[in-house]
Amino acid sequence: MRFEFTPEQQAFRDAVLRFAREELQDETLKERDLSCTLSRDLWRTCARFGVQGLPFPKEYGGGERDVVTTVLAMEALGEGCRDNGLLFSINGQMWTVQMPIWRFGSEEQKRRYLPGLISGDLIGAHGITEREAGSDVMALTTSAARDGDDYVLNGAKVFCTNGPVADLFLVFTTVDASAGSLGLTGFLVERDAPGLIVSENKTKMGMRTSPMAELTLQDCRVPASARVGREGQGGRIFSDSMEWERGSILANLVGSMARQLDECVAHATKRTQFRKPISKFQSVANRLVDMRLRLETSRLLLYKVAWLKQEKGSAAMEAALAKLYLSESWVASCQNAVVIHGGYGFMTDREIERDFRDSIGGLLYSGTSDIQRNIAARFMGL
Ligand SMILES: Cc1cc2nc3c(=O)[nH]c(=O)nc-3n(C[C@H](O)[C@H](O)[C@H](O)COP(=O)(O)OP(=O)(O)OC[C@H]3O[C@@H](n4cnc5c(N)ncnc54)[C@H](O)[C@@H]3O)c2cc1C
Repeated sequence: MRFEFTPEQQAFRDAVLRFAREELQDETLKERDLSCTLSRDLWRTCARFGVQGLPFPKEYGGGERDVVTTVLAMEALGEGCRDNGLLFSINGQMWTVQMPIWRFGSEEQKRRYLPGLISGDLIGAHGITEREAGSDVMALTTSAARDGDDYVLNGAKVFCTNGPVADLFLVFTTVDASAGSLGLTGFLVERDAPGLIVSENKTKMGMRTSPMAELTLQDCRVPASARVGREGQGGRIFSDSMEWERGSILANLVGSMARQLDECVAHATKRTQFRKPISKFQSVANRLVDMRLRLETSRLLLYKVAWLKQEKGSAAMEAALAKLYLSESWVASCQNAVVIHGGYGFMTDREIERDFRDSIGGLLYSGTSDIQRNIAARFMGL
């Protein structure tokens, strides 16, 4: 077993880190966190660098990077860029809109949408969660009824990341409620589709620079060519994209944990109380060591999932375990970071409390921690 990356992977990681440090620093982040605003400029800057296209084929404008390199790049972005919401929004689009289109969409859908999503001209959103179908998402009731060459969609979605600014929505429906998960069917709904109503931006505790909306579909008419895959294939498409998302969406926060640790070490070695640096107090040093341990173990899980996806094509249990461990580690390390900074960590101008607020969402999206444990338990035959 070799614990090292190729020189090309390492060089690309360094280039991404440089890019993030130089081009994704943004004076407006604190205000945008307050006003819950996504930076379209930074979105386009990322697209110009090739972030949105990292693993996608060159023929659609992508970079055709392997999975390990993609995950390394995402980690470097998280280390260099403090805007967790921006990176969360980009990841959401990549894994739950672009990936399903690429893996299950028609050639026409790929050509129509992937180049725009990858170039930053289009923003995509994913709508599956409903008020009565959260963790039990296969119980969704938004319906799709065939009507000649069209489908007519009716229902409502909540927690739709990117919704307020999205040009394209991948919406999951059922074509046959009595068939359970076998009725699930996905549709690509363009923003101006008749009958699609997108709510205002919903404010939330963290990831505030990543906008979120509710969707209403009122006799929303889409052509049959908007269906992704076959009728009833939606459950498979959703599970596939969740596996990608769980394995990759937290790569940014591993980078964020690395940045946070550097800042905490710098603070703890500089700040003196009782005439010595606080890092000399064992309680403080222990917190820093715990943060280091979480970072190291998170990296191992993250890279293992990426390697499995690259080499074996599937890593459903490992992705669930990584999602569970990384998200909970981030919360624990963010809490440590606040405490190491004392009262200053609690103040908004130090930008440490924002990471803490952002981290809580990780316990919920892409399936809560309980649901990741359920998935792992199933694989363990429990
Ligand atoms: C920041 C953020 C972004 C999101 N983005 C999107 C998006 O873009 N598109 C989208 O469709 N959705 C999105 N979601 C929704 C997200 O996927 C759901 O919030 C999540 O699946 C949980 O569903 P719920 O909120 O209805 O909670 P519930 O399912 O009501 O869960 C409530 C509690 O019960 C527990 N629970 C439920 N069932 C079980 C069980 N079987 N075993 C053990 N415990 C259980 C849960 O773990 C949780 O603690 C987002 C959520 C957040 C927070």
